[in-house]
Amino acid sequence: MLRDQDGLCAICRVAPAVHVDHDHETGAVRALLCFNCNGGLGQFRDDPDVLRAAADYVAFHTLSQRVVALAAAAGLGPVRTVRLGEPPVGSHRRPGARGTSTRGIGRSSGARRREQAGEADG
Ligand SMILES: [Zn+2]
Repeated sequence: MLRDQDGLCAICRVAPAVHVDHDHETGAVRALLCFNCNGGLGQFRDDPDVLRAAADYVAFHTLSQRVVALAAAAGLGPVRTVRLGEPPVGSHRRPGARGTSTRGIGRSSGARRREQAGEADG
């Protein structure tokens, strides 16, 4: 197995393969991993969904930081990144908030402030 992996971790393919990784439920050997990748799988509970979410999280923030840096380098001034699903800057309405929710709680303090100020919500 070590020869098949050229002595390198099956995940990062950079660090030396020093751990025999196995499925903790079945005990089946999966591959040889480096110290960090083996520990990382355990930290993420071997859950592919959590691992993908972590990968998306890191990729999103890395790209966001690059966009901000590029905008600054191009002299576009301060740029605020927006997470997917957030309303655009200046919007007071959250996505999906238009009267379809059956939830009676979770109203934003902004909605309460607008109601108290006499503004129509919509
Ligand atoms: Zn590795």
